[in-house]
Amino acid sequence: MLYYKLAIIGNALSPLTYQSDDELERGDEVNILLKSSQKKAVILEKVEKPSFTCKSILEKNPFFYSSFQLTLVQFISSYYICSLGESLKLFTPFSNTNEQKLEQIQDLKPLNLSYEQTNIINDIKDKSQVLIFGDTGSGKTQIYMYKMQEVLKSGGNVIFLMPEISLTPQMQKRLYEYFGSLVAIWHSKISKKKKQEILQDLQSGKVKIIAGARSALFLPVQNLRLIIVDEEHDDSYKSSQNPRYNAKDTALMYGKITNAQVLLGSATPSLNSFLKIPHVRLKGTFFQSKKTFIYENSLPSISEKLLFYMQKSLQKNSQVIVFVPTRANFKYLTCKSCNENIKCPYCEVGMSLHVKINALKCHYCNFTMQIPRNCPVCKDEMLEANRIGTAQIAKELREIFADKNIQIFDRDEIKSQRVLKSVLKDFNDKKIDILVGTQMLSKGHDYHNVALSVILGLDSILYQGDFRAREKALSLAVQVAGRAGRAGEGEVFIQSQNGDFFYSYMQDYERFLKDELTFRQELYPPYKKLLRLQISHVKEQIASKITNELVSLIKTLPYNVELVGYGASNISKIASKFRYEILLRSSSSKALIQSAFTCKRAFVQADMDPLSFS
Ligand SMILES: [Zn+2]
Ligand SMILES: [Zn+2]
Repeated sequence: MLYYKLAIIGNALSPLTYQSDDELERGDEVNILLKSSQKKAVILEKVEKPSFTCKSILEKNPFFYSSFQLTLVQFISSYYICSLGESLKLFTPFSNTNEQKLEQIQDLKPLNLSYEQTNIINDIKDKSQVLIFGDTGSGKTQIYMYKMQEVLKSGGNVIFLMPEISLTPQMQKRLYEYFGSLVAIWHSKISKKKKQEILQDLQSGKVKIIAGARSALFLPVQNLRLIIVDEEHDDSYKSSQNPRYNAKDTALMYGKITNAQVLLGSATPSLNSFLKIPHVRLKGTFFQSKKTFIYENSLPSISEKLLFYMQKSLQKNSQVIVFVPTRANFKYLTCKSCNENIKCPYCEVGMSLHVKINALKCHYCNFTMQIPRNCPVCKDEMLEANRIGTAQIAKELREIFADKNIQIFDRDEIKSQRVLKSVLKDFNDKKIDILVGTQMLSKGHDYHNVALSVILGLDSILYQGDFRAREKALSLAVQVAGRAGRAGEGEVFIQSQNGDFFYSYMQDYERFLKDELTFRQELYPPYKKLLRLQISHVKEQIASKITNELVSLIKTLPYNVELVGYGASNISKIASKFRYEILLRSSSSKALIQSAFTCKRAFVQADMDPLSFS
């Protein structure tokens, strides 16, 4: 009889020992019984006969995890504080039945590069990790495509990560047009059947480039030579569920493990990458476009000044995009007499006002209720709507520009890929004059005829009590501004009560990064590491009790960690669960990881390198 230590996929337990008559290898997928239910597990190692009796492995499945994958599984488990089984659940194994042959792709058309792009290609040739810091519209995609075809010609494969690729049909089209069936797109919205097909083609070698959201990193890709992380500053690379991995950092680690080159790209790189990864600079725009910036010191509103610029642009038959970071008509309904927002009964957050459905809606749990006439706290009738959103801006603009076609572009309106594609098509066909949207507007779309980008409401991001608030607000502003005047002249209208801040950095993100690094020194990432422990429970007493126990425990730990703070979270309740948190800081990630494993227990989740503090 042979004995094996194995990890159960998706399970929080530590590895268990099972027995089998068969010779099995590290990485083999097997079926086992846990209590009386059948589970999939992965062989970690062969071990000596234990002193206890073991259950038998039921059978071996025709799948295996490569040694590269297992090394990455181990990294995620230790760095992001989860079990091996929970880490394994992210991955798709290789199939035993498919043997991929090495094949070099020779019949790709030559790609034209500008002088600047050629220089970048030469500069990044020998770097294992590199950040391409390229202005919006400077032609980063062409560099990615060039690198990809180079890898394909030498017989290698590519993983190309994009945040929310489902939102960027233009990028998908560009990849298909050049690489044809050698590229496959992978994200959560494609069907199960399609996914099976892609996995088969990937392993037979028909597909050589997998382009997708963060989960594409965990697909069975052989002979991986290149990983590209586009829009590397984007927060959606970070998973908001356990394991709370960051796909960008995980990609950098995977590159080290597999010896694949890792390219990060952004017009507004994160401070972390800017400090830690060697970068090359791609300046200016490919089409030599010019931009003018207009500032107005005001709360977000459709002001006279804004109307003047919109009219001017529309008269020239150009299109306008309007960015507002808030959905719905208004974010809050506030009582003028007691100053309370009307809150969701299940979450400690304000309900948003949706005029279209004539209701208040919670953006955290989707609870919907009638718009009340009186304040639920003091019964006063003086309710006031606050913090304007996309729906209200669109409504007001429709009253002013009655003959224009105005479309909302946010998660309330764009609910499927089909709608997304048709709205983008209508916009590019000039059937829509004004597009009013949230962050969704900034995601890598090329709007060819936009002469004016309007940016409203950034102050609400700037005022978030978060050390990354300035970075988030400025990065968004630069990304939205970059959507205007792709070809030719463009105007950017920024409404803010912090105009000085935007004025000084809008055209020089590099200077912002350098100034911000000085501001972060000693206290914040990228110089220090943070760990956030989240405690949540339906009973507030229990959540608070666990928090206090952990705080006492942390104070006795011998590791070099600093207790920054603890208590109820900013949003103290979501979907009926009370939320508490503990924030730890250290210059050593090891010390934080050790502390996290010591604090691990039921109702506690660890978030290493947290990005969200709500
Ligand atoms: Zn009131
Ligand atoms: Zn709610």
